[in-house]
Amino acid sequence: MDDVEIKSAADGGSYFENMLAVSKEQVKNLIEHQDEPIDKNDWGMAVYTVNAMYDSLANSITFPAGILQAPIYDVNASYEENLGGIGYIIAHEITHAFDNNGAKFDENGNATDWWTEEDYSAFSKLCKDAEAFYDGEEAAPGIAANGELTLSENIADLGAVSCITEIVSHLDNPNYEALYKSIARTWASSSSREYMQYISQTNVHCLDKLRTNRTIVNDQKFYDTFGIKENDGMYVAPEDRVNIW
Ligand SMILES: [Zn+2]
Repeated sequence: MDDVEIKSAADGGSYFENMLAVSKEQVKNLIEHQDEPIDKNDWGMAVYTVNAMYDSLANSITFPAGILQAPIYDVNASYEENLGGIGYIIAHEITHAFDNNGAKFDENGNATDWWTEEDYSAFSKLCKDAEAFYDGEEAAPGIAANGELTLSENIADLGAVSCITEIVSHLDNPNYEALYKSIARTWASSSSREYMQYISQTNVHCLDKLRTNRTIVNDQKFYDTFGIKENDGMYVAPEDRVNIW
């Protein structure tokens, strides 16, 4: 990005033009390096970004400094609270290595079929279940999730919750309530109805509310922790829950 010229508004620049300049440079870099081996040390995001990623071509996970701070990771928080924050994110990124996209790349980032036929067909069936489980679920009245569009992210969320719930179960005196509340806090957000409508139709992630509410309901521990019964709003019958991992 050293060659990108960013101009301030005082110098006649605009946000749009600056973003365009950055995008052009990114595309130029990709074209220049297209025939070279993948640089596995190359970061796909900036160090200050509050986000994380899995890269199937490098089979790597990246956590910039921006996300490694409170409340996602807090040195003063409990073990369960940090698991519901950064633990969820780490487990989510690792699960991407085995989601419906990551499943098509091997440990070296090569596109190849490394599954047994039996495993892959069982996995594909579970993916269909996950697709149906999220499809049509509303994050707000009239704003529904597209199960197909969001499948890979939902698989990663389901894997994340399975993973951190199991880790907590090995503690001497596990505090599941702290874990679930931390997950909910991680994804708590507000946005305009227009933005939610836009995201629900274009983004591969479900809206934040569903990333908590539709994911944690697949684990029996959630029901036990909060005493949730059949007539409660978030209740899902055991036979209708999705458990891929
Ligand atoms: Zn993801």
